[in-house]
Amino acid sequence: MDTIQLSDIYKSDFSDYPVFTDKLPGVFCYADHVEIRIWSPTASAVELIVYSDGMKGKSFDCIHLIPSDRGIWTQHLEGDWHGTYYTVRVNINGQWSDECPNIEAYAVGVNGLRGMFVDFARTNPKRWEHDKGPVLEHPTNAIIYELHVRDFSISPTSGLNHKGKYLAFTELDSRNEHGQYTGIAHLKELGVTHVHLLPVYDFLTVDESKDDGEYNWGYDPLNFNTPEGSYATNPNDGATRILEFKKMVLALHDAGIGVIMDVVYNHTGKVFDSWFNRLVPGYFFRFREDGTLSDASGCGNEFATERLMARNYIIASLKHWLEEYHIDGFRFDLMGVYDVETMNKIGEELREIRQDILLYGEGWTAAESPLHEINRAVKHNTFRLKGIASFSDDMRDALKGHWNNPKNKGFISGQTLNEEQVKFGIVAATWHPHINYGFVHSSHAAWAHDPTQCVNYVACHDNYTLYDQLHLAKPKLGDDELAKMVMLAGAILLTSQGIPFIHAGQEMMRTKGGDHNSYRSSDKVNKINWNRKHKHHHVFNYYKQLIQLRKDHPAFRMHDVEELRSKLCFLNEFYQPGTVSYVLGPHANNDSWKWVAVLLNGNSKEVKMKLPKKNWTIAADSEDIQTLGIKEMHEDNVKVAGRSMMVLFAME
Ligand code: CA
Repeated sequence: MDTIQLSDIYKSDFSDYPVFTDKLPGVFCYADHVEIRIWSPTASAVELIVYSDGMKGKSFDCIHLIPSDRGIWTQHLEGDWHGTYYTVRVNINGQWSDECPNIEAYAVGVNGLRGMFVDFARTNPKRWEHDKGPVLEHPTNAIIYELHVRDFSISPTSGLNHKGKYLAFTELDSRNEHGQYTGIAHLKELGVTHVHLLPVYDFLTVDESKDDGEYNWGYDPLNFNTPEGSYATNPNDGATRILEFKKMVLALHDAGIGVIMDVVYNHTGKVFDSWFNRLVPGYFFRFREDGTLSDASGCGNEFATERLMARNYIIASLKHWLEEYHIDGFRFDLMGVYDVETMNKIGEELREIRQDILLYGEGWTAAESPLHEINRAVKHNTFRLKGIASFSDDMRDALKGHWNNPKNKGFISGQTLNEEQVKFGIVAATWHPHINYGFVHSSHAAWAHDPTQCVNYVACHDNYTLYDQLHLAKPKLGDDELAKMVMLAGAILLTSQGIPFIHAGQEMMRTKGGDHNSYRSSDKVNKINWNRKHKHHHVFNYYKQLIQLRKDHPAFRMHDVEELRSKLCFLNEFYQPGTVSYVLGPHANNDSWKWVAVLLNGNSKEVKMKLPKKNWTIAADSEDIQTLGIKEMHEDNVKVAGRSMMVLFAME
């Protein structure tokens, strides 16, 4: 399809297309029959071509679909078709499209080029019917760990056998070369509540037919409704990836850990030639006024989430992952490409199935969009999204410096005048009377209605790892000083209100050797080197203690915004450059501690910080955290070590 043809289609604006909303489109396979419903309103003929192999060989049958109402083409097949492959082609204006899977394909052959009839009853591991993710009473109880399937296990230091595969998550007792836990045992030991997986739907780039070490993050979706094949032990069989994906989910759930999927409905990996454009040319994408594809994703196209069949497609896809794969939450890549109404509809419909589903996204676009800014699900519209959170780039940049400039410093690396923005992160981007929003350089106003709408982080897969950025900003400092900053960053994230998010390996000073955009770099760059857990064991141990502190003390994870405003009091009167301090209480969020004081010192040198008069006990200092108390204080001045946090409590 060329640009001129798309331009003509654009002029039709699609409003006269019949929509089909009472039944789901798709190819549905059961033990003894198949139901087919394909939506292609401009087609004059639609065929399903049947193959015995997922990629090679000639077809052995061609099934003509029957036109039904509102653009739907149907067929009913008797018999057991499980494991047979197919493609679809449509005839528009006398021209047959190229063959492809239907856009809803629930199973595919190698490289996702043919669909597979799949009877899901035959894809379940043992005990699957009893599988259930952890209950999440409030989003602020979640502690998220962002992970790429391949990075997790590919290094020899992982001690895992199924390197780069879903099945690595099912190995329960793996160790690094020093005998310390790696893999899922490490996640349990650390104490995170949710793993957020980088794309695990079928993506385009990695050639699944060769296991030759090709790497990609996977932000180039091909088939949205089936797992990626390169993470399966046999990508040639469409059912294997489904079974092994479910085994991964089951193992994580058995460990008490929820599974969040990174979903990328904002664009497709193929640009003009996507399955969507082959079957319903133009409908699923936005266009500029000149008729060219608009590109708010920065990847060549953007999905028209506001069009009814596109919106329904996304919701049906999410429901499929939720119901068939027991997924516990979704992270929306470039959520700003979505319209607000679609995001709210997603929240509404998913919560009818599962009340405690966790939903959050990147509240920005990568480039301009024809969707008016007022309708975009961007960060400053978060307060209009119901039960959906946005990432706080405000907190990220306040802590470590601007993402795009490694020379830039932040609060943890000694930059002063970031304090108001750190405070803005501590209150989870809500409105709080003790913050001067004029000094919150990145936002100047609250954007979260309440703390459940803000994901606080300092690093993720994008840009430099935390360790690498700090190393570039402070090249003369050794690992001892950098470790203090990494520990302070974790301390701030895990004591702040909102939903904390950790980049995998942050807790062991993960490095990618200074590669800031490793989306297709080698394993050598991207792998988690599990021996760093030994080298920086005190950092790991501190993160583990911080997570336990957060779990033990609900004061750090308030969900009611009024309570947050009345029970979090910044000690502005004791301000010194490079420090932030505040008190929580009395009994914030029913905490057993009546009063909690949090003192943050981003300066390299020790600072004497002042506290309100009470009988304080130190619970956390720069090296250790003991919720029963490390030592009692008998004065209202306390020495806080350079680049560190102190937490104290008082019972009256
Ligand atoms: Ca793939």
